[in-house]
Amino acid sequence: MKVLVIGSGGREHALLWALKKSPTLTKLYVTPGRPAMENFGVLVNINIQDSVDVTQFCKKENIELVIIGPEQPIINGLADDLAAEGINVFAPSQAAAKLEASKSFTKELCKQYGIPTAKYERFIDERLAKNFVRSNKIKFPLVIKANGIAAGKGVIICHTENEAFSAIDSMLVEKNLGESGEEIIIEEFLIGEEVSFFALIDGLKVVTLGCAKDYKRVGENNEGQNTGGMGSYSSPSIISKEMEQKIIQKIIYPTIQALTNMGTSYKGVLFAGLMICKDSPKLLEYNVRFGDPEIQSILPRLDPNCDLLKLMLSVAEGKLNTKMVEFNHKTTVCVVVASKGYPGDYQKGEVIKGLDKIENIPGVLVFHAGTKLDENGNWISDGGRVLNIVGEGNTVEEAKSKVYSALNFLEWSVKEVMSTSVTVAYGDGIGPEIMEAVLSILREAKAEISIDIIEIGECVYSKEWSHGISPSGWESIERTKILLKSPTTTPQGKGHKSLNVALRKNLGLYANIRPCISYHPVIENKFDKFDVVVIRENEEDVYTGIEHRLTGDSYQCTKIITRSGSEKICRYAFEYAKKHNRKKVTCLTKDNIMKMTDGAFHAAFDRIAKEYPDIKAEHYIVDIGMARVATEPENFDVIVTENLYGDILSDIVAQTSGSVGLAGSSNIGNEYAMFEAVHGSAPDIAGKNIANPSGLLNAAVHMLVYIGQVSTAKLIYDAWLKTLEDGVHTADLYKEKKSKQKVGTKEFAKAVIDNLGKKPTTLSELIISSDSDSKINKVQDNYEQDYKVKKLVGSDITLAWDKSNNFDQIVRLFESSNLKMIAIYSKGLAIWPGGSKSSSDQIICRFIANNEITNSDVNNLLIKFEEHNFDVVRMDKLYLYDGKEGFFS
Ligand code: NAD
Repeated sequence: MKVLVIGSGGREHALLWALKKSPTLTKLYVTPGRPAMENFGVLVNINIQDSVDVTQFCKKENIELVIIGPEQPIINGLADDLAAEGINVFAPSQAAAKLEASKSFTKELCKQYGIPTAKYERFIDERLAKNFVRSNKIKFPLVIKANGIAAGKGVIICHTENEAFSAIDSMLVEKNLGESGEEIIIEEFLIGEEVSFFALIDGLKVVTLGCAKDYKRVGENNEGQNTGGMGSYSSPSIISKEMEQKIIQKIIYPTIQALTNMGTSYKGVLFAGLMICKDSPKLLEYNVRFGDPEIQSILPRLDPNCDLLKLMLSVAEGKLNTKMVEFNHKTTVCVVVASKGYPGDYQKGEVIKGLDKIENIPGVLVFHAGTKLDENGNWISDGGRVLNIVGEGNTVEEAKSKVYSALNFLEWSVKEVMSTSVTVAYGDGIGPEIMEAVLSILREAKAEISIDIIEIGECVYSKEWSHGISPSGWESIERTKILLKSPTTTPQGKGHKSLNVALRKNLGLYANIRPCISYHPVIENKFDKFDVVVIRENEEDVYTGIEHRLTGDSYQCTKIITRSGSEKICRYAFEYAKKHNRKKVTCLTKDNIMKMTDGAFHAAFDRIAKEYPDIKAEHYIVDIGMARVATEPENFDVIVTENLYGDILSDIVAQTSGSVGLAGSSNIGNEYAMFEAVHGSAPDIAGKNIANPSGLLNAAVHMLVYIGQVSTAKLIYDAWLKTLEDGVHTADLYKEKKSKQKVGTKEFAKAVIDNLGKKPTTLSELIISSDSDSKINKVQDNYEQDYKVKKLVGSDITLAWDKSNNFDQIVRLFESSNLKMIAIYSKGLAIWPGGSKSSSDQIICRFIANNEITNSDVNNLLIKFEEHNFDVVRMDKLYLYDGKEGFFS
């Protein structure tokens, strides 16, 4: 079969690559094409704006199928003209293409046919549009869209009235988008997960051709202009079989029906831009062609037995077989390599080397989007989006790292610095409002981050995801490795598990860091000066959640402290002190009581401290230590402690600085990091625009330091201090005499934005050395055995005790055993030998061996208890480590 493909981008290069595999293909033409496409097809020069030219070529060359890549020729009606001449064409008619050409048309169609989409209004008059924005009928952030196509420039997310008004002026008054912007749509900003969904339609029947997630924004803060697309991956896990059915039933079929009722039909690929909100898909927009760069990650996943050419022909002929599409189980990631400056002005003609090396890497594909050859046969850049590198793997992470390692081979004189991807979770309670405020400040400060929003908290628990986070949420965190998180609500004493604990454990976030500072005299507190950083171990202690109801009356929580975990957190604390020019690290434990667990932590601290002779090390018993921190915080610098003590201490210190709403915290692991405010979701003040966003803002400042954007961190922190100094305070800090203005969450953020670039006069600026110096290197788990011989010497066996039996019965039972019962304890108190009474419904019988024993000797104790109807609820073995007891006495 002879085929003509129209287009010249990465999308068409990927299509040619896939079509070339078809056994039925005899000749492939492409117009206008690019030199890199010559591997697959013959480049022909036809004027694609002129359908007569295209039709004549097809007739002359006996073309049996025309595939139109870009939208413009489709919207111009090329498919209609080819079909009128009896030529098979894979693309919809001009009438059906209104789905892409006019957003108003699609929105009205959705309204009429009950297709789920964002709430909206249409406007051609600037004053009416602004009045509507003012009316607050649609809350901020809201979205302003040009009705017509605008090459990725027609959608503006507006966070403030000013932003909305300038978008309206740009489109309706200044006519910057020409005809496309003569009508606009103002619609609700949907929160959820965005996916691109592709349906092949032969007029009637529908087959899914996969889905992908695409990433459109370039540059800073996920706010830089929309581009044609900077990357994609396939397939997002949120699109399950059930979700696919929902999309087809609720969105695709009603659309086909609507078109049929209008007297037209749809043939080709329908690309639905969807937002998956909780469990429901909502339509954002339609496109009438393949997505670029989505299709570059979808096509490599097609099963080798799936003949794309046959499939496309069957669409054109109205003979789609619904069983024709199969995918492999791999994940693919496509990264777009763009010219520096894109989507604004950029240089062309830069020499690109190393592509041959990349093409030879197994599981990596290169599609050209904007290249040509120079006179010396070098590839040179010839567009904004230049290359698409696609990697394959078992997970998104694997596929992505394949692409990035391939990119190391790319030699290009101008390499664009990419912004850091960050996962953002709005949480619940005051979470969404403080997150909005913080993101607006990050945006204005030009933080170079691109954000991926995920859902967490209450709305997610109500589904089957008991950790309070969806699989796609995990996927996002796995990809970005950085989470900026608003608080979530956790019920006390019952109900679902704590999301925070799940995150810390699953992501290996072993260190929690909370710096707390006195903002005296700006914010009143009892202390003039303190600057304390609490570093808390985050994975062990009683927070492992290992709890049991041992008997009717007793509950037990297991405290786990490891030597390696303790060394790791203590080393982190000293490294932190070193990087931040701190002079002292204080350790708090309760090793006078818990000699083994807390003793191990203290010993680890002492060992590590020796490696940092320039930093003072001291230790306090936790009770007096906390009392001192609470009364003389100025005498402390960095404090390192166990999980539970640290949890309590960090709130004490945070509160000491004036409000729990001020402090931020970092949770750091070797691979992942999470940043959040220290306070909770404050349901008592949620939704009232009165919460203080400072805690989360400080967390975001820590995040910027972590990712090496120290100057932006300083810029924001200084502006925030200046705002506090100006007396602009939220309700939690407001004092009639000291403060000047009581403001809400949004107004506080606005004041910080207005202060960007200004320095505080009284309070101290953020002092951090240089960008590269700020990050603490990986601190490894370093377990070194500290003994030579471990010897089993006995067992502690815990019995449920009904108090009716007397102890002699047990003593007699084991008289002839080689393990002698030497003591009985109740809640740690020795009650036998001697006359003390048991005060609980569980007792521990301690057995110690007279000679060498094995595990079966211990097991025989259990069997004997069992035979005599004692209720054993727990057993611990007793060992000597190089002769030293590994158990309490
Ligand atoms: P909280 O920190 O939410 O509130 C304590 C008090 O401080 C409240 O009076 C509140 O109004 C006030 N407050 C908190 N943050 C404030 C802010 N930014 N601005 C002004 N005032 C603020 O603690 P809580 O009431 O014990 O807990 C509420 C919920 O939050 C619970 O479900 C708890 O489990 C959860 N929680 C979540 C996190 C987290 O997600 N990181 C942390 C702690 C508590």
